[in-house]
Amino acid sequence: CGIVGYIGTQAATEILLSGLEKLEYRGYDSAGVATVWEGDVHCVRAKGKLHNLRSKLEQLATQSQIGIGHTRWATHGKPEEHNAHPHLDTARRIAVVQNGIIENYRELREELKQKGYEFRSETDTEVIPNLIAELSKNADSFLEAVRQAVSHLQGGFAIAAISADYPDELIVVRQQAPLVIGFGQGEFFCASDTPAIVAHTRAVLPLENGEIARLTPLGVEIYNFAGDRLKKQPRLLNLSP
Ligand code: GLU
Repeated sequence: CGIVGYIGTQAATEILLSGLEKLEYRGYDSAGVATVWEGDVHCVRAKGKLHNLRSKLEQLATQSQIGIGHTRWATHGKPEEHNAHPHLDTARRIAVVQNGIIENYRELREELKQKGYEFRSETDTEVIPNLIAELSKNADSFLEAVRQAVSHLQGGFAIAAISADYPDELIVVRQQAPLVIGFGQGEFFCASDTPAIVAHTRAVLPLENGEIARLTPLGVEIYNFAGDRLKKQPRLLNLSP
């Protein structure tokens, strides 16, 4: 239901949580945050309101400067903690949040199970990190693995993904569900809706359907699903008083 992502120079967790609070009006049943810290993915999720997540996060005081957060409105799988996002791949190296529905997740899950991947939730989303993990074996970058994974997905979705093996990259995708990128000074944001990031920047670029972006502390690159680089500039949000 709600997505927030951050990469830059500040501690990510508080930025993610306060961004998710700005998206609470959309409704949700559970929430979670994942960061990359000292070579590993750290993921904390909680059923119910964001203050449940906030109290759990106090035990995990990482100073990570990259992360993704999600508020979930369940479509596939009960509103329980194990179905909350982010979802990790079997080896716990890749974390993904998703808004929308992956229509062909059953087929993908069966194929991935036959390849030895394990599933810990009933969601449509968990196929994505496992598919990225599988495709990473032959892809030469995280962006490329995510781009190939997206070509297998049917449905409408917005995705944000991070990897312990690429601690300086946040990859985001838009296909029929909204996703905006926010441009700061040496820091970049993504969100399913602008209220989550306007406290930090008003320079935004809404992705269009069929676009994938790589956010690093140095900048943002936008591609189409075929992998061609697109030239795009952020625009300034004109917020009336
Ligand atoms: N279909 C996904 C799920 O049930 C995402 C739902 C959402 O957009 O919050 O986990």
